[in-house]
Amino acid sequence: MMKIGQYRLIVLVAIFFVIFDNVSFFKNTVKVYSFSSENIAFIFSLAIVLVSFTVFLFSLLSSKYTTKPILIFALIASSFASYFMNTYHIVIDSSMLQNALQTDMNESLDLFSFEMVAYLFFLGILPSIFVYKAKVTYGTFKSEIISKLKSLLISLAIIIVVLFSLSKFYTSFFREHKPLRYYTNPTYWIYSIGKYTADTFASVDGEMQAIGQDAVVVKDENSKRKIIIMVVGEAARADRFSLNGYAKETNPLLKNENIVNYTNIHSCGTSTAVSVPCMFSLSCKDDFSYKKGVLVENVVDVLEHTNSIKVLWRDNNSDSKGVALRVDFENFRVPENNSMCEDGECRDEGMLIGLDAYIEKHAQKDILIILHQMGNHGPSYFKRYPKSYEKFTPVCETNQLEECSVEEISNAYDNAILYTDYFLSKTINFLKKYKEENDAKMIYISDHGESLGENGLYLHGLPYFMAPSCQTHVPALLWDGGKRRGNIDTDYSHDNLFHTLLGLFNVKTIVYDKSKDIL
Ligand SMILES: [Zn+2]
Repeated sequence: MMKIGQYRLIVLVAIFFVIFDNVSFFKNTVKVYSFSSENIAFIFSLAIVLVSFTVFLFSLLSSKYTTKPILIFALIASSFASYFMNTYHIVIDSSMLQNALQTDMNESLDLFSFEMVAYLFFLGILPSIFVYKAKVTYGTFKSEIISKLKSLLISLAIIIVVLFSLSKFYTSFFREHKPLRYYTNPTYWIYSIGKYTADTFASVDGEMQAIGQDAVVVKDENSKRKIIIMVVGEAARADRFSLNGYAKETNPLLKNENIVNYTNIHSCGTSTAVSVPCMFSLSCKDDFSYKKGVLVENVVDVLEHTNSIKVLWRDNNSDSKGVALRVDFENFRVPENNSMCEDGECRDEGMLIGLDAYIEKHAQKDILIILHQMGNHGPSYFKRYPKSYEKFTPVCETNQLEECSVEEISNAYDNAILYTDYFLSKTINFLKKYKEENDAKMIYISDHGESLGENGLYLHGLPYFMAPSCQTHVPALLWDGGKRRGNIDTDYSHDNLFHTLLGLFNVKTIVYDKSKDIL
């Protein structure tokens, strides 16, 4: 193999990245800047800027011992990034990384496919072998420093010259088309790793902040004991509930129950890792941060501060995302706890088994039970329901959503909604036996929505400001012991949950804001 200087190797790899790993970026760019002769020069210049920027970045980190391992790591990681961006049209931002890092083995297997292996082989392993085998020549310490500076300065100079000579385009590119940058590979995921690490480390040091320690339950003599089940849904879209007008009958059981249906609720985030801690947090969508989620207590803590309410979190999703760290928690994704598991898939209804015993055991207290569903977790929607719920056919039976028609994806997704309809009605029926002697209620709200191929988008997790409403408009229901029925069309959001839960339990505390209590 021929000899090569480390900065030449960096340039070659950077060119490889721009040609093979940026399909999503250029596709999205061409959507914005159509193929006119003027724009072609601009799009070509973007490729040059991207190569130069990548060279600059890797030159900063280069040295005899780091260049090869860093390039190999970047190639492997970028092959995965390319696969997910091309297949599901997602972007790899810090909350997506957070989600990915909180993903367990089961969920990862859910995403496995031969296409992924092909990406890994051609875009990751093959070029890595080339990098690994390359005979890199290194000069003296002094000459290496000079080469590094040269590489940094030249790449920077190219970027500056291009930006200035096409400033008209670049102004609009940076100002009006900010989201396009999210598709650059590997630069954006490298930036996201930096951001994620900064956020995470910032939250490690700092003290846990207690809130609502003054909380007390205000009851009169004839108020009944409260038994409330809250179901946290997964990736359910409001517009796929027939209760909200969806043409297919996806709520055949719930429509027969006396429930209040909230038609206009929006999520706090577009991913589980953001939405779940945010909806239980005192912070609103606009001021919620990962750090606040970790370091500030949430509404379940406030409920327990009263000493008259017991909270149990059962999880068939992943975990409580930090919400239930100080209350009773049970993992229902393992057959030891969930008696309804088959082929690695545990059913949501398994979470209802054994709840009577818990309610009995804490007979002196009000009870909040939170059931975190597997729900419509994608992309393998077809695995999310027992075969008997396969009412809408044909269904997409692969996680390679692009191989399926829009109808097949929809059918699999809608069948999973149908199973949630069954699960929720079963939860209501579970509570009915308590409703005479107690104040029994069920609340249901999904964490975020899902894209099902509209505009080529799949799954969820797009940055909030660019996310379509199907990722943020979520279904929400209240079963009030069967006392009320109807639709409520007022605009609400996850921000209301904190205060609504406090209101439901008649909790008096300084952090309660009556104006945000839906009820
Ligand atoms: Zn989710």
